Amino acid sequence: MAAAMKRYSASPKGKRTKRAVNRRWYRMNAEAGRTASRRTRELRYGIDEPLPAGYEAFIFNAFGNTCARCNSAGPLELDHHRPMQKGYPLLHNAVPLCRNCNAQKHAMDPWKFYGAWRGMELDILLDELQVLFERKFQPCS
Ligand SMILES: [Zn+2]
Repeated sequence: MAAAMKRYSASPKGKRTKRAVNRRWYRMNAEAGRTASRRTRELRYGIDEPLPAGYEAFIFNAFGNTCARCNSAGPLELDHHRPMQKGYPLLHNAVPLCRNCNAQKHAMDPWKFYGAWRGMELDILLDELQVLFERKFQPCS
């Protein structure tokens, strides 16, 4: 049995199957991986505030699944609007950015990155989203 298994996984079909299974597993665990690495980075700056379930999707939806700066729909990431490096947690401080914009923003203050007007607009929007999120996700009692 073990020999047959070994032969199968060495065959082209077996290799293809193995790749497909790995890809599926990676896709399933990608969000968990992002969450874990973000948590490690935040703990380095003394932030201990895990994201509640549903927050990521809530923010992406609120921004219409587009980048808050360039409006592209490319793969989006949650950016710390006020920088993590200054001690702000991601919760109620998250803005979706595409990979390119997020790399450009890095640890920049929002008013420097977006300009004063758009930075303030996003501040107000984040306050409103916090109220909405807390109202929407009240635990039952
Ligand atoms: Zn962008």
